[in-house]
Amino acid sequence: MTTKVLEELFVSKKQSHKMPALFIGHGSPMNAIDSNNFTRTLENLSHRIVQPKAILCVSAHWMTEGTWITSMELPKTIHDFYGFPQALFDVQYPAPGDPQLARDIQTLVGEKTIHEDKEAWGLDHGTWSVIRHMYPAANIPVLQLSLYMARPADYHFVLGQQLAQLRERGVLIVGSGNIVHNLRLLKWEAEAKPHEWALEFDQWSKEKILSRDFKSLQEDFQKTEAGRLAVPTLDHYLPLHYILGLAGKDEEIKFEYEEIQNASISMRTVSVGLS
Ligand code: ZN
Repeated sequence: MTTKVLEELFVSKKQSHKMPALFIGHGSPMNAIDSNNFTRTLENLSHRIVQPKAILCVSAHWMTEGTWITSMELPKTIHDFYGFPQALFDVQYPAPGDPQLARDIQTLVGEKTIHEDKEAWGLDHGTWSVIRHMYPAANIPVLQLSLYMARPADYHFVLGQQLAQLRERGVLIVGSGNIVHNLRLLKWEAEAKPHEWALEFDQWSKEKILSRDFKSLQEDFQKTEAGRLAVPTLDHYLPLHYILGLAGKDEEIKFEYEEIQNASISMRTVSVGLS
């Protein structure tokens, strides 16, 4: 066997052990119990990924002062919504936590940057509404990372970069939010005709992601009317930046799903390093 072939074998083996990273547009909580093209895409995604040792999810629904990580043995399932059918409130996702991994992540980034949450939070629907389609057995440890809302997009991008080595340790990092997310202007039917501004901003983001113009995504997103309508608040937009921060220079970034649901919510789902 030539040295070159050996090198290629080594590289492909190494790459196969590096976990991809995902940004998932989660949309309505109803996607947790619905079966549609989006949820089937999530199921299929998990079949293309080596079984993770743990999942770290940055959820749009955990907004905090400072950055926090869940660090309990058994995180509770949080039903953080109102006015939905009882079936949604009945959902439990009893995945274990991993306090040791939480502390390792704290050490990796710095104890002043990430605080340990031993009891306040758990798994909110930003996490379980998507993860339950991918890993229904709930037997993989799941941790959540919160959003430090007083910090701009580049803080979240840099924090994503700092988490990169977790991918080599079998941790699947997921950002769960929505690139376009305007609840005030949504329509109740999931298949409603998308607003023009929603299509425009979704397309702008798509182009910026493909051209790796991450600076524009961090700084220019509210400079147009479409952007101001698509991102009226930062919570659902910020998880994307962790995943872009995790992308290596030569790694492929692509879209696993795209759709505008409820006229004003982009379900665009992004993968990094997933073949
Ligand atoms: Zn949400």
